Amino acid sequence: MTAFEYANVIIDISHEKVDRTFQYRIPESLRDKIEIGAPVVIPFGRGNTRRKGYVLELTDEPDWEPDKIKEIEDVAADTVSAEDISIKLAAWMKRHYGSTMIAALKTVLPAAKKQTRQVHKYVSLRMAVREATEQYYECVRKKQKARERVLGELLLNPDERIPYELITGKLNVSPATLKSMSEQGIIKIDAEEYFRKPVAFTSQRYGDKTLSDEQQGIVDSFVSDYDHGKRDTYLIHGITGSGKTEVYIALIDEIIKRGKQAIVLIPEIALTYQTLMRFYRHFGDRVSVMNSSLSPGEKFDQMERARTGDIDIIIGPRSALFTPFPNTGIIIIDEEHESSYKSETMPKYHARETAIELGKLVKDGASVVLGSATPSLESYYRAKEGKYHLFELKKRLTGGTLPEVEIADLRQELRNGNRSIFSRRLQELMNDRLNKGEQAMLFINRRGLAGFISCRSCGHVFKCPHCDVSLSEHRGGMLVCHYCGYQQPMTKICPKCGSKYVTSFRAGTQQIEDEVKKYWPTARVLRMDADTTRTKGSYDKILSTFANKEADVLVGTQMIVKGHDFPDVTLVGILAADMSLYASDYRASERTFQLLTQAAGRAGRGDKPGNVVVQTYQPEHYSIQTASRQDYDAFYEEEIAYRDLLRYPPVSHMMSVQIQSRDEDMGMAFATRLRAIMEQNKKDGAVFIGPAAAAIGKINDVYRMAVYVKLDDYEGLVSYKDMLEKYIRRLEDMGKLKNITVQFDFDPVNGY
Ligand code: ADP
Ligand code: ZN
Ligand code: ZN
Repeated sequence: MTAFEYANVIIDISHEKVDRTFQYRIPESLRDKIEIGAPVVIPFGRGNTRRKGYVLELTDEPDWEPDKIKEIEDVAADTVSAEDISIKLAAWMKRHYGSTMIAALKTVLPAAKKQTRQVHKYVSLRMAVREATEQYYECVRKKQKARERVLGELLLNPDERIPYELITGKLNVSPATLKSMSEQGIIKIDAEEYFRKPVAFTSQRYGDKTLSDEQQGIVDSFVSDYDHGKRDTYLIHGITGSGKTEVYIALIDEIIKRGKQAIVLIPEIALTYQTLMRFYRHFGDRVSVMNSSLSPGEKFDQMERARTGDIDIIIGPRSALFTPFPNTGIIIIDEEHESSYKSETMPKYHARETAIELGKLVKDGASVVLGSATPSLESYYRAKEGKYHLFELKKRLTGGTLPEVEIADLRQELRNGNRSIFSRRLQELMNDRLNKGEQAMLFINRRGLAGFISCRSCGHVFKCPHCDVSLSEHRGGMLVCHYCGYQQPMTKICPKCGSKYVTSFRAGTQQIEDEVKKYWPTARVLRMDADTTRTKGSYDKILSTFANKEADVLVGTQMIVKGHDFPDVTLVGILAADMSLYASDYRASERTFQLLTQAAGRAGRGDKPGNVVVQTYQPEHYSIQTASRQDYDAFYEEEIAYRDLLRYPPVSHMMSVQIQSRDEDMGMAFATRLRAIMEQNKKDGAVFIGPAAAAIGKINDVYRMAVYVKLDDYEGLVSYKDMLEKYIRRLEDMGKLKNITVQFDFDPVNGY
C-alpha cells in the first residue's frame, strides 16, 4: 500500500519510550503490506536478534547513511494481544482525528512507571451489631455527627470492611475521630499490603434488585444479541432515576459470567461515592476505579490488576477506555452526552466513537452501551437512523414526582422594579423552604464574583490584553483573566469615555452567595465552583456537608447539577438560564437544554415534591421551553431541524483546522493557504468557512484562528486532513514552517 522507502519502528512499547524509534528499510516485497501500526519482524542490536516491532512513521528521508540501515524481515502475524490492539487503536485515532502516531500512542498506553507495593487500611465494626446500634443512637442523641456517619455506614453492611480513605475522604470524618473510636473498641482499623486499590474491599453481594419489566427487557435483548454473536451499540434513553445504573450492573454480570471484562466510563465529576459504592457492593474486589486523584502508583497498580486478571471491571473517566483487559466484552458510557468525553488535546478523540472502534478490535468483539437522560444529538440521531439500538426507560423508580418548573421572565422583573438577582417567585419559594427546614440549590453557569465588567454608558468591555477574553471581577478589587491569570486593578472610571457607570454585568457564584446571606441571614450557605474546589478533597467535602444537612443552600456552577441525590432538596433556582446560549458555537442550545434538564432534575428526589424556577431573559427560546417541560423529543425535533438546515453535525460532519501563531498576519495567511489547498480539490458538497479568529482569539500572546469545512462524508474530511498533514510535514522537513502549529478537530464539541 505504501510507496515509502523507510519505516520508523518502535520496539519497546511503553509510554515512556514511545519517542525512541529505529529506522528500517522496507524491502520492495513488503511495500504493499506495510502501513502505520503494522507489526513487523526486525533484526535488532549487534547480534541482530529478531524482535517484534511496530511501524510508527513512514518516510522517504533516511535518517542515516542509507547503506547502514537494516531491512525489515517480515510482517508479523496478526494477533489480538493487548499490545496489538493498542497500536491498532492508536493508528485508527491518528487517521480518524488527525495527530502524530506518537501522540496517539501516548494516549492509549497507560502512563506510569513501575511502582512499589503499598499498604491499605480498612475500617470495620469491632462490636456486635446490637451494641453498635446502641452506640449509633447514642451518637445521634449527642449530635456526634461524624461518629454517626461512620456507624451508620458500617451498620448498613456489618460484615463489610470499608476503605479508610473512603471514610476520611468521602464521609469527611477526621483520622482523630477514627483513632478514638478504635481505642474505645468500637471499630477496628487494619492494614494490608497489596496492589494499591483506591476503593476496594471484599463484600457480600447485597441489595440486588429484581429488575422491572422494562429493565429486564433490555438485559434480555442485549444478552440474546450477545449470545448470537451480534455486537452492537445500544443507547439507553431514560431519565435520572429510571434504573439505568441497575441495568449496567446486570449487563456486566452477564458479561463476566461469559469470562469477559467490562469498562464503565462515567464523567469524572459524577464519579461520586454513592455511584462507586453501588458497583463495589455488587462486585466487591473485582472492580476498581481510575481517576485523576489517584497517585501514579495507584494508577499503575490498577492497570496491572486489569492486565493480570485481578479485576473484571474498571470504572473511570474517558481515559479508562484504554484499560488493558485481556478480553473486554462490554464498554458502558454513562451520561454519554457529556462534553468531557471529547479530548481537548491531540488526538481530539471522542470516547464514544473510540469505544465503538475498540469494540471491533478486541477479541470476539465488544458491545457498547450508552446511557443518558438527555442523549447527545449524535447518539439519538444515530439511533433514529437505525445505526444504534434504542432502549427507553420511561418510569422513574425512585418514587418522587417530577418537579414543577416555572419560568421567571427577568425583563418583566426589571420592568416591575425588581433589581435583585432573585425573581419574586424565587424569593417566595426560598422563604417557604427555609422556613420548613428543607434545602435549596441555586445554579449559575459562571464562576467568580461577576461576569464581565462593562461601561453602561459606552459599552466598553474590559478584556485581557493577552487572551481576548473578558476579565472578571474578583474580591479585593482586582480584574482577573481566567486563561492566563493576568490581573489589573478595578477602576471606577471608564478608560474609553470617562463615564463613571462601570459595573459588573452579571452575577457570579460569589455574588450570589453574598446575596443569599443578605436576604436570608440565618441560612447556612455553601458555594461550589472552580475556586472552592481547587484543593484535593474539597469537592467531596462540600457535597458531604450538604448531604449531611449541615447547610441549607448550595450555590454553584454546573458542578452541582451532576448526578447527586439530595432527597431534601425541594427547590432549585436556575439564576440565568440563557447564559450558555451566548456561547458562540453550534452546540449552545444543546448544552443549555442538557444543563437545565439536569439542574431541574435535582429537585424533588425524595418523597417531597419539588419546585424549579428558571430565570431567563429569553423565556420563549425552545431550549428553555422544552427543558422546563422535560420534553427531550420536542427539543430534539427543533434542534435537529436547525442542524439539518445549516449542515451541522450530526446531520453532516465538520472539521475545524485550528491554526496557532505568534504572528497574527502570518497565521491568517497560512490559514488562507490551507483553505485554498482544500478548495483546489473541492469535493461535492464541501462548504468552507473562514479563516477567522477563534472564539478565544489569543491565549498567552499566541493568536488562534480556524478554518472550518463541512461535508456529509466523514472520509472526505479525513482525506482533506491527510492532504494538509502531508503539506505541513513537507514544509517542516524543509524547515519552512516556523512559529505555526496546526491541529484538527472533527465534529468539535468544545469551543475553540
Ligand atoms: P439511573 O442510573 O437511571 O439514575 P438508578 O439505576 O440509579 O437509575 O436507579 C434509581 C434508583 O432506583 C436507585 O435508588 C436504585 O437503587 C433504584 N432501582 C433501580 N432499579 C430498581 C428495581 N428494579 N427495583 C427497585 N429499585 C430499583
Ligand atoms: Zn465608557
Ligand atoms: Zn489572559
